Amino acid sequence: MSQLSTPRRRFGAALPTWSTVAMIAAAAVGVVQFGPSRLSAAKPFAAIDDGSSALSAGASLNAFGSSREVMLRFALPNAPVEFPLEVSGDPAGLSYGWVPVRDTLAMDGPRAFAGEDLVAPSVPGFYRLAVLRGADRQIIPQPTLAVMVPFAAKVGSSLNGYRIGTYLAERFRGHTDHPAGFLEVQENDLGLRVSRHLTLGDFVTHDAQVDVWPKYVALNPRLLDKLELVLARIGGRARLAAQANGEQDVALDVHSGFRTPLHNRAVRWSARDSRHQYGDAADVAIDANGDGLVTLTDELLVAQAVDQVEAEHPELVGGLGLYVSRRYRTPYVHIDARGKRTRWKG
Ligand SMILES: [Zn+2]
Repeated sequence: MSQLSTPRRRFGAALPTWSTVAMIAAAAVGVVQFGPSRLSAAKPFAAIDDGSSALSAGASLNAFGSSREVMLRFALPNAPVEFPLEVSGDPAGLSYGWVPVRDTLAMDGPRAFAGEDLVAPSVPGFYRLAVLRGADRQIIPQPTLAVMVPFAAKVGSSLNGYRIGTYLAERFRGHTDHPAGFLEVQENDLGLRVSRHLTLGDFVTHDAQVDVWPKYVALNPRLLDKLELVLARIGGRARLAAQANGEQDVALDVHSGFRTPLHNRAVRWSARDSRHQYGDAADVAIDANGDGLVTLTDELLVAQAVDQVEAEHPELVGGLGLYVSRRYRTPYVHIDARGKRTRWKG
């Protein structure tokens, strides 16, 4: 692997095909030992000079998290964005731009590729990456880039007329945890896919501000990755269970994703400093055995899947709460990625 320890090549320097292939293969299996300069071939892209002049660009597999199913990348305005890309054809003369999901005729850019990371647009919103060369423009359909509104834009307990409340970090010394920023969600963004099984609408706070737009959502990509890893485990099991009556995808119902601190205080039985406020928790009901009902059996299957995912991905450890008592109409599971293993029953 010594060939991978060479200093980072600037964009425009032709990479020999053999090392490019080696680096892509290494990146695909999650190897991050790229020598002292921490060179990652996929940042910003691995150029595959296949001799053809046609522009062909796509996101690398490692742009989608460990689950390969996360379809949103996060950045603050004007901040660096890690967006692993593979581009084939002649890498000369390439540039990039950001195309708003809601207005595909507009574009932020073009900008030249420089250094390892791309640079996010200055205006919060949802964007697709466009790779440009001359008159050629190729839009990468996934992942979507979410440019967040910085946390500091919240004034008092509100952000742009949407009531959020305050975090402990804003009220007490010694508390530092708060979301880096919020996704700005317009009504027609609710269907935006954030991962294979989840949409933005799954994470919006269910409170009395029904007609207030835009709404704001804190969401952590680690939660999305963890949920998809759990669903992948359950999916395999559900398919096996459902073989007799045909293959189905996992039935999933998100009861609660992001909760503003203001709303969290009003939710019965909620933890005072619930992880839902930080965007790394979700309450989900999953029909894990595919029998059409959500029962205690399903919750135990989900719990088993969470344990397995945490064993394989220690970086995604967190809370697991089983809510199975008669207090709840249907049992559900709280899953979070707080970084510390925690278990409870409600
Ligand atoms: Zn919860």
